[in-house]
Amino acid sequence: VDPVSVSVQAGDALIVVDVQNDFLSGGNLRVPAGEEVVPVLNRYISEFSHNHLPVFATRDWHPPDHCSFSARGGGWPPHCVAGTRGAEFVPELALPETATIISKAARAEQDAYSGFDGTNLHRELRHRDVHRLFIGGLATDYCVLNTVRDALSSGYEVFLLIDAIRAVDLKAGDGVRAVDDMLRRGARPVDLQSVATASSAEN
Ligand SMILES: [Zn+2]
Repeated sequence: VDPVSVSVQAGDALIVVDVQNDFLSGGNLRVPAGEEVVPVLNRYISEFSHNHLPVFATRDWHPPDHCSFSARGGGWPPHCVAGTRGAEFVPELALPETATIISKAARAEQDAYSGFDGTNLHRELRHRDVHRLFIGGLATDYCVLNTVRDALSSGYEVFLLIDAIRAVDLKAGDGVRAVDDMLRRGARPVDLQSVATASSAEN
């Protein structure tokens, strides 16, 4: 995948997907190598903050009896129960105080892989005149995939942070297939260099 060069500008927002303790090592639903996205996302966060551009962070925010949990016949171990340490953002993630937090799947009977599903994310973005989204986080083959799909179908231009995503890969190749799917639908791949280079060339 060849990253495209792009400079961040007014109308852009960064969406950090589900970088929560339960998805990293020691958590209840570990994404392999998930911790590797944290320092990379921190660089993107700093780039957006420097440019006074909005940063959003989504999180799974489940009640203890959530329908996605195995005890209820769902496919996952209990994870990201609202108010627990597992649901907190990873402490190393340097979210600015101004970041907008989007909680999803907060009702027992509703699951949501997309940050747009059942939340006010779209309204918040429109309110701030955002039309391009830079999306990274966890996991490539679930919440990143579905957030990107919804963003594209809602009319946003989407840049996928290919150096700041990691997959669950329940089936080998799920992550690669998810990236293919997102790019085929129109997301454009970027990495730190292709974003940072373009923006520092302006200075
Ligand atoms: Zn969940």
